[in-house]
Amino acid sequence: MDHAKKLQVEVAFADRKAAVLAPSTLECLSGLPTVNLTAGCAHNCLYCYSRGYSQFPGENKVVVYANTFEKLQAELPRKRKKPVAVYFSPSTDAFQPVDEVLQLGYRCMRYLLEHDVGVAVLTKGRIPERHMELFAAHSTLVQVQVDVTTLDEGIAAVFEPYAALPDVRIRQMARLVRAGVTTRARLDPILPGITDGEADLATLVERIAETGVKEATIATLFLRPMITGTLRRNLSSRPDLFARLMSEFEDSRPLALHAEKSRVVSLSVAKRQCIYSFFRSAAARHGISVRVCACKNGDMPSESCNIAGKWTKPHAPAQTSLFSVP
Ligand code: SF4
Repeated sequence: MDHAKKLQVEVAFADRKAAVLAPSTLECLSGLPTVNLTAGCAHNCLYCYSRGYSQFPGENKVVVYANTFEKLQAELPRKRKKPVAVYFSPSTDAFQPVDEVLQLGYRCMRYLLEHDVGVAVLTKGRIPERHMELFAAHSTLVQVQVDVTTLDEGIAAVFEPYAALPDVRIRQMARLVRAGVTTRARLDPILPGITDGEADLATLVERIAETGVKEATIATLFLRPMITGTLRRNLSSRPDLFARLMSEFEDSRPLALHAEKSRVVSLSVAKRQCIYSFFRSAAARHGISVRVCACKNGDMPSESCNIAGKWTKPHAPAQTSLFSVP
């Protein structure tokens, strides 16, 4: 079984008004355009930061931006300078287990790759076979971060109920590496008191190392009132988990998020340092370099997490005729 629970989500459709290929103003995205295929995300992670965004459509609801492909098809040929890559997706997941989302994502990604534009993906989802084949066929133009926060299926089922099972995520990391796709691991967010145990982190990094991945990014959970409320409601039958999480935040501190110009409640620097140092040492033993996400750790040594990959130079211009797709 690919998903921990049977999916229950309402799917609605809307037209995207804004341009698809607008460059991001976020420093860590290096000016790449970012595309959300939906508002809301069917993975329904309890800690999801995007629940607080104005576009969030409500619990168990996904709004698919149905005209995304047509807009992309209209915009790309008009660009004087093609983007080096497009990042899917800043506040949703392109591999939610919803057919309409998967189909739309496939069409957009294939169109970009066939026009020599890179595709960057961050996902906790199950990447379908045909996307895998597409990525393998354009491996030098694809960079993927696979986010896996724990190997514990029970914990994943509670906190990431409709995302791919941890083992599926690990296996697809290995598959991507074998296909020649630049693949990175992401452990975000580590849940303090729950997924930050040293034995758990050591086993997780061991499994990541077996996939051939050489780079990982880590960040711990932060809280906002919206996230705390969601956790409290959804963990009402697991008060032990809620209490463990909250007790870790007793000596918490306010933190300014770089990427969003907002303030959140973060673990103390000492606690974060402790988790990151342990993980860094464990990863080093497996030849994996570790980045601490700067957006969420601006008060301590950190760096770009390469969330949208590393794209150093533009690709060669595509032939004009390639744009005349029917
Ligand atoms: S996969 Fe990402 S975007 Fe989707 S619910 Fe989970 S944290 Fe939010």
